[in-house]
Amino acid sequence: MTVSGNLEVALTRCYYCGDGNEVILNTLLTKKCAEAVKAMHHKVVSTEPCPTCQKWMKDGIILITIDEVKSGKGWEKDKIPNPHRTGGFFVVKEGFVEKVFAAPKAVAFAKKHRWLFISHEAAEQVGLFASAAVKKD
Ligand SMILES: [Zn+2]
Repeated sequence: MTVSGNLEVALTRCYYCGDGNEVILNTLLTKKCAEAVKAMHHKVVSTEPCPTCQKWMKDGIILITIDEVKSGKGWEKDKIPNPHRTGGFFVVKEGFVEKVFAAPKAVAFAKKHRWLFISHEAAEQVGLFASAAVKKD
């Protein structure tokens, strides 16, 4: 969003929920800096959670469903991994993650970082979609 001349303001998107996250503006009023800020508008530029996701991460662990086949090879190696998301977004207690995930690495990651990607099929198998009573929005 152009404010004036070489001053741009961008509202980034939250990596986890996709809602508005951080407001960025260029303090160096050059065309180059303005263009860089403009390019961030409505984009995910970091894995910093928005205030709502921060709260959810405090209360539990966010599970985001993905399609591993559609995600393609090597998506997890990107600086900001961007697998094909299937729309499932759940906040569960730590105990649920410990009970459901067999891989100790996944459990440790989830407990440390407070979120985890989960395959869509796995989410269905453990009943996340069936038991989701609260819809976002
Ligand atoms: Zn968020």
